[in-house]
Amino acid sequence: TALDIPPQVSSPEQVLAQVFGYREFRPGQREVIQTALDGHDSLVIMPTGGGKSVCYQIPALLLPGLTLVVSPLISLMKDQVDSLVESGVAADYINSTRSREQVLDIFSRIRRGELKLLYVSPERLLAGTFLERVRESQVSFVAVDEAHCISQWGHDFRPDYAALGRLRACLPGVPMMALTATADKATRHDIVQRLQLQHPFEQVSSFDRPNIRYTVAEKLQPMQQLKRFLSLQKGNSGIIYCGSRRNVERVADALLVAGYKAAAYHAGLEQDTRASVQERFLCDELDIVVATVAFGMGINKSNVRFVVHYDLPKSIESYYQEVGRAGRDGLESEALLLFDPADEGRVRSLLSSGSTNEEQLRVELHKLHSVAEFAAGITCRRQVLLNYFDEPSHKPCGNCDICLNPPTRFDGLEAAQKVLSCVYRLKQGFGVGHTVEVLMGTRNQAIAERGHDKLSTFAIGQRFSHDYWYSVTRQLIHLGFLSQDITRGSALSLNAAARTVLKGEQALELAEPRLIANSRLKGKTP
Ligand code: ADP
Ligand code: ZN
Repeated sequence: TALDIPPQVSSPEQVLAQVFGYREFRPGQREVIQTALDGHDSLVIMPTGGGKSVCYQIPALLLPGLTLVVSPLISLMKDQVDSLVESGVAADYINSTRSREQVLDIFSRIRRGELKLLYVSPERLLAGTFLERVRESQVSFVAVDEAHCISQWGHDFRPDYAALGRLRACLPGVPMMALTATADKATRHDIVQRLQLQHPFEQVSSFDRPNIRYTVAEKLQPMQQLKRFLSLQKGNSGIIYCGSRRNVERVADALLVAGYKAAAYHAGLEQDTRASVQERFLCDELDIVVATVAFGMGINKSNVRFVVHYDLPKSIESYYQEVGRAGRDGLESEALLLFDPADEGRVRSLLSSGSTNEEQLRVELHKLHSVAEFAAGITCRRQVLLNYFDEPSHKPCGNCDICLNPPTRFDGLEAAQKVLSCVYRLKQGFGVGHTVEVLMGTRNQAIAERGHDKLSTFAIGQRFSHDYWYSVTRQLIHLGFLSQDITRGSALSLNAAARTVLKGEQALELAEPRLIANSRLKGKTP
């Protein structure tokens, strides 16, 4: 039963109302939909929960013929398709869970022009004669969801996705839309290149989630800290992320013993058990799910009041995505990260031992380091996150542990100028370590070989310690004056905002480094 909407009489607004039951578009959705209807490519970057699905579902319904939706999340396809079918949309999916008969049936419906939307996993899309067969009917539009998986700079690279570069040649002239919740500059660039998007319209929605309060606390006695935190969250829904199945089990057990309505969720559990945990959480029978990252992909629960990271996440992207599952209803929500600097080393050796691809490992270690720096940081958490996602933010947020319990500040203009001009003299080609060595006036081989001891900025920071310059530099990254380019060995480069600092046209306060143990655990934060 294809929902036949004659394109001339139906508008995106009507489809939004009639099929999805919403009155207005969210920021960005309408523009992206129009781009597809006009036959152009686009790159859509919206935070989790931002409403990416309708961006391709509505064009799919308005364009003639078939739309392909490529997604790596097999477990979500069925849910998405079920709810579309429930709304009267002719949708189906093909992945490894479908039988031969089901696939044959889908193809005959495609031939008869009965299907509007087909979700397909990348390996099925690229296998055998799939593309030749769909090409026999009219493919009007292709959406690539979770597009960051195509990039080695992304946090979830999948070789299956890299092969999607072939799509363009197979379906010339068909508009493509790439969608993702997390993509830094390097990843965005890579997505465009690899999918061969033609002058894509780029829609980047704000990553700010003002109702989420970010707190990082030093992990001392994590179980007690967790219970103290939970005692302020009685009856609220929340997710606790752990880095290993073992920790998931341990934490879940402890919470059960303490009388919480909690359950464990990880990939080692039976499919049925996992489905039931998810179901009970959705209908508020369970308050707390203790989970590995496997949990939460695409779960649509609006009243999650808190997300705790019991262990260090693997990247800022995954931290942000996981935390973003809190507060979808716009109400005040808490994000607590328990941070033990030693966690970085632990995950590092885990990653290193499990890795076969050196380049990939380098990217993962860089991402791990960035999230550890974020956790150890003394800059407004929201500013760090927004700057990380290339959304310049120059004002502290007032709703994170750093803003609410601020470190001592000092006039950091001169120190900042020293670092920034040193980065400039180094032709924006070196990382934090080298820059600090030059400022300190260290005479090592790397510096001598390149003649960096002749630079005007050599040794201008001698009066202060190594740690001091590290801290200043890290804050300049976190505040968005400097970027670290992952595609060039983490070299530092100056952002536009650095200009006014270099010229002394603005004041700049920096924070005194503080021992993480000092204050963060006292007062308001757990
Ligand atoms: P994403 O894929 O970006 O994580 P979804 O597409 O799953 O997000 O959308 C998140 C939620 O927002 C869904 O429940 C969806 O139905 C809802 N939604 C999307 N667009 C709108 C809109 N214009 N108005 C109201 N709700 C919307
Ligand atoms: Zn803040």
